[in-house]
Amino acid sequence: MVVIMFAGAIIISGVFLFFAFRRTKPLKIPVSGVQEKILGQYVTFYRDLADTEKCRFREEVNKFLHRIRITGVGTALEDMDRVFVASAAVIPLFAFKGWEYRNINEVIVYPGAFSSRDFRVEGEGRDTLGMVGSGPMQRTMILSQKDLREGFLHPNTTSNPAIHEFVHLIDKADGATDGLPEALLRHSYALPWLHRMNEEIQKIKSGRSDINPYGTTNEAEFLAVAAEYFFNQPERMSERHPELYRMLKEIFNPNA
Ligand SMILES: [Zn+2]
Repeated sequence: MVVIMFAGAIIISGVFLFFAFRRTKPLKIPVSGVQEKILGQYVTFYRDLADTEKCRFREEVNKFLHRIRITGVGTALEDMDRVFVASAAVIPLFAFKGWEYRNINEVIVYPGAFSSRDFRVEGEGRDTLGMVGSGPMQRTMILSQKDLREGFLHPNTTSNPAIHEFVHLIDKADGATDGLPEALLRHSYALPWLHRMNEEIQKIKSGRSDINPYGTTNEAEFLAVAAEYFFNQPERMSERHPELYRMLKEIFNPNA
């Protein structure tokens, strides 16, 4: 019975993953000079890549921009905003060649923080910087333009709300947003990772960690804030959190 349930769980998660990601044939779309300039100037992850990988990153950004609608609501979007959204999507999946998101159609960008209850962009009680929609908002992500930009424009920040939301989307792809991104995670790695997350959550709670305290909300939020830090400040994380860094590398870049 247990074996049947286990096999069933594998099949179900396999079906979810099939619908969540797909490998695609390389698509050659010329990359504009403006996009290349923005990437080179502001996207540290891109700047640290070797030239051939830079070329692949630009192609992935372009593919994302052709596939996913990005809409400004109450604000005008600039090239910078579109390139940042696409970069935040490409970064966490970049080690997985040819994979692309299938669980999103549109990214809506509000001018600043919003209310996740009633989507207000003005008035009191607006504390949400980004979210992955559910219910009628399924397949939609919402981001705050101000915070999208700050995640890339401030060279020393460990926070990047757009990467945070795309990591939730990856985590969600197996059907459960639980901090265990089964699309990327080897099965044998799930328990050690769960254990490590809970240890670090305790460290944050007792004030012994510089990881965003929002990560103590639950394992899904921990994965998302740890990934922001990992992708924005890899060197700092490898110095201050060597074990966590090594485990995140195993998840997001297993063949490096
Ligand atoms: Zn979150």
